[in-house]
Amino acid sequence: MDLKGMIREVQDFPKEGISFKDITTILSDKDALRYVIDQMADQLEDMDIDVIVGPEARGFIVGTPVAYKLGKAFVPIRKPGKLPAETVKYEYELEYGTDALEIHKDAIKPGMKVAILDDLLATGGTVLAAAKLIEGLGGTVVSLNFLIELSFLKGRETLKDYNVKTLVSYD
Ligand code: IMP
Repeated sequence: MDLKGMIREVQDFPKEGISFKDITTILSDKDALRYVIDQMADQLEDMDIDVIVGPEARGFIVGTPVAYKLGKAFVPIRKPGKLPAETVKYEYELEYGTDALEIHKDAIKPGMKVAILDDLLATGGTVLAAAKLIEGLGGTVVSLNFLIELSFLKGRETLKDYNVKTLVSYD
């Protein structure tokens, strides 16, 4: 399937100069949606994992159906203040300022093997923060899986200590 041809590119969103990769055109096509979830699940099928973790919001969209397909559990990572029970937080640097992500403290048990899924790998900052949260709770990150990779932003260098897999790459 020509996934790249199905991903809508929106120029100057959310800021001038950015070519945003819009996956809603994949989600709204039943065959493309099934194909993407199946492919991402296939990449994890032979791996020993206990749980899938996905950062908000598009990490929920790809993460939960893959977890369902593999018969695994799903754990969300969210922006601060969204998760209701006791959380741990990880703050990370952006170009201007900082951002933070949270996970429920009891969601990852020591020794759990985790795959993190998201729609898109850009600089890798989001998923690195997610990995740090999981490791802080004693989990091991065994795989990072994305639908799209913007390879010119060199996220794989940021994530060099991890096993990274993607379906579509933009140079
Ligand atoms: P990173 O932390 O720089 O790797 O950015 C990745 C995060 O930003 C992911 O959670 C993506 O959902 C989001 N993101 C960045 N650029 C795009 C885009 O072009 N399309 C969709 N999501 C994007």
